[in-house]
Amino acid sequence: MHTTRSSFDAGEVRCPKCRRHVGPSDGPKFIATLGGGEPTLATLTCERCLTMLSIRFVPAEPIQIA
Ligand SMILES: [Zn+2]
Repeated sequence: MHTTRSSFDAGEVRCPKCRRHVGPSDGPKFIATLGGGEPTLATLTCERCLTMLSIRFVPAEPIQIA
């Protein structure tokens, strides 16, 4: 499934199976990208139906590079 990092952090992502909200409180494992930078993948397990979810973060807006 695809979402933006901000939506994920705001708890707007729902488990596709049981529709429960999932988010940072579910203990996601972020998979770092090569070369550093923000993780673009995360996996977490829905606490209700125990489905393993794989989440890909997509950019929602232009990324500011300081
Ligand atoms: Zn679920």
